[in-house]
Amino acid sequence: MNFSGKNVLITGASKGIGAAISKELAKEGLKVWINYRSNPKLADSLKKEIEQEGGKAAVIGFDATDEDAFVEAIKTIVNSDGEISYLVNNAGITNDKLAIRMKKEDFTSVVDANLTSAFIGSREALKAMSKKRVGSIVNIASIVGESGNAGQVNYAASKGGMIAMTKSFAKEGAARGVRFNCVTPGFIATDMTDKLSEEIKESYVSNIPLKRFGDPKDIARAVAFLLSDDSSYITGEVLKVNGGLYM
Ligand code: NAP
Repeated sequence: MNFSGKNVLITGASKGIGAAISKELAKEGLKVWINYRSNPKLADSLKKEIEQEGGKAAVIGFDATDEDAFVEAIKTIVNSDGEISYLVNNAGITNDKLAIRMKKEDFTSVVDANLTSAFIGSREALKAMSKKRVGSIVNIASIVGESGNAGQVNYAASKGGMIAMTKSFAKEGAARGVRFNCVTPGFIATDMTDKLSEEIKESYVSNIPLKRFGDPKDIARAVAFLLSDDSSYITGEVLKVNGGLYM
């Protein structure tokens, strides 16, 4: 793929989809800034793995919901490398329950982790990228933000909001040379979906036309395309990577 930038920050990158995106982008030649929140060991071992394969990586710990910490992290990256070329807002959580049992805190904490964090990152990256009038940001939303899902009113609101936010950022960013797009994964085999019972997993798989959960690499390849110059005329787009579950 064709990348004109040098580095990328990936939030929530120590495991799952974020780790797969890190490996894919390092293979493409970018220096990968691996953000972790709670597990520095996992982040360090991912950095080592990338370096053993000949890639470049750095580890940066912060909670993506902490505005000051996120702002500081982007400053650190720009001071170190002279720029932030790309950003992937990947950090996310679930806290599933039926709406009638959902407390306000169950709702706001998920929106904060999934949507507000991506707003902070997108705003700060846009400021930094505007100076060079080039950049590309990908937000990891979800099929649930498109279709809705029982038991996930909080998560669906955060991911649906992320899709609308991405389109609005895309309209503001275009004049500054910065593109914003979303990837909406379906069911992908990570710790997040490992929590589901076997029965629920089987029932989901039976409804997926391609008859399997996705691999984190399936998401990583879509992200690489949307960040790269190969998608230079695409902005405000939502790329579904869901095995055909929601078309
Ligand atoms: P995962 O394995 O649970 O990993 C989530 C990562 O996000 C973890 O590294 C976690 O760090 C990090 N994180 C959470 N809150 C954070 C915060 N405030 N600051 C920094 N990092 C934070 O989940 P995943 O499946 O890879 O999911 C990655 C993204 O894809 C999420 O946005 C998720 O909503 C989205 N997605 C996943 C699926 C799926 O089927 N797996 C489907 C659709 C969308 P800690 O370990 O420290 O908490």
